[in-house]
Amino acid sequence: MQSQTKPLLNLSLEELTDLVLKLGEKKFRAEQLYLWLNKGVPFSGMRNLPESFLTRLKAETTEGYAEILNRQVSKDGTTKYLLGFADGVSVEAVLMKQSYGNTLCISTQAGCRMACAFCASGALGLQRNLLAGEILAEVLAAVTDGNTVNNLVLMGMGEPFDNYDNVVKFLKLVNHPKGLNIGMRSISLSTCGLVPGIIAFADEGLPATLAISLHAPNDAIRRQIMPIAKTYTMGEVLDAAKYYFNKTGRRVIIEYVLIDGINASAENAAELAGRLRGFNCHVNLIPYNAVGGDFKAPNKAAVEAFRQTLEKNKVGATVRKTSGDDIDGACGQLRLKHMNSKQGK
Ligand code: SAH
Repeated sequence: MQSQTKPLLNLSLEELTDLVLKLGEKKFRAEQLYLWLNKGVPFSGMRNLPESFLTRLKAETTEGYAEILNRQVSKDGTTKYLLGFADGVSVEAVLMKQSYGNTLCISTQAGCRMACAFCASGALGLQRNLLAGEILAEVLAAVTDGNTVNNLVLMGMGEPFDNYDNVVKFLKLVNHPKGLNIGMRSISLSTCGLVPGIIAFADEGLPATLAISLHAPNDAIRRQIMPIAKTYTMGEVLDAAKYYFNKTGRRVIIEYVLIDGINASAENAAELAGRLRGFNCHVNLIPYNAVGGDFKAPNKAAVEAFRQTLEKNKVGATVRKTSGDDIDGACGQLRLKHMNSKQGK
C-alpha cells in the first residue's frame, strides 16, 4: 500500500521541498506543511494549504503520526504510552516530570536484538527498526497529548546504534529550528556499546550526551549478562568512549544496572572504580527493575555502599531515581504485556 510507504514525518524539510515541487506546488508550501507536521496536525487541519494539494497528499502519503494505544499515569505523574504505527507495530515512550522539566524516554526500535539478560525489550527479539519519522512521532504523540517535552532520552526499547542512520536523522529532525527545536544538549542517547557506532557518532559532531551501558566491572561478568560483550571487550568500549570525549568534550555517562549477586558487590565496585579512574565520566547506578525472571536488585545499603566506593576512588556516581514503579515503568514491560495478550498468553 503506497500510503504506508511514505510517511511525511520521515522527510527532512529539503526532502519535503523536493516532494512538493514534484507534485507541482510552490516551494513555500513545503515549509507550511513542515510546520503543521511538526505540530502533529492532521491533513484535515492544515488550513492554509489548498484543498487540491491536500487531496493529492492524502492519496499518496500519510502524515506518519503514531496512535496512542494505551496510556498509564503513575502517582508521581510519570506517563507511559504504548504507541502504534500503521503496520500494527507498537513501541513504548515514557514521560517523566522532574523539577528541571519534562523528560521523554523514547524507543528507537520495536524490540531489540541485543538480548541483555536483565532487559524486557530484548525478550522477544527485534521486530523492526523505526524510521526517523516514527521516532519523531513518539515525541509528537506526547506533545499533542498535552505535554511539554524539554529533554529527550533515547533509552526506551531498542539499540540506537543498531539503527544508526534513522537515529541520526531523527536527532536532526527533532532539533530543527522549524520543527520541535529540541536542543541537542537536552538529548541523551544510550548504547549497549556498539563500538563502531560510538566512533561514528563522535565523528558526527552532534553535542548530545552519550550514555554507555557498561553494567559490569570486567569482561567475564559483562559476557554473562550482555551478549554484545562477546563482540566488543570492555577495553574497546571504554576506548571508544574516551575517543567520544576527546572529540566532543562531552562527558560520557556510564550506566550500571545493579543486580544482586551478579555485579553489585564491594569487590565489583572497587574493580569498576579501577577501570574508570582518570576518565572524565559520571556513573549512573540503576537498581535493577524487576521484569520477571530470577534477578533482583541489591538492598538500599548495598547500592549506597557501591556508590561510595566509586566516589572514594574519585569516580563520580549517582543512583538513578526510579519513577513510575506502579505502572510497569521498566522499558519493554508494557509492550511485552500487550504482545503477550495479543498472543493470548
Ligand atoms: N540499548 C540501549 C538503550 C536502551 S535501555 C542500551 O543498552 O543502553 C536503557 C537502559 O536501561 C540501559 O542502560 C539498559 O541496560 C537499562 N535496563 C534495561 N533493563 C533494565 C532493568 N530491568 N532494570 C534496570 N535497567 C534496565
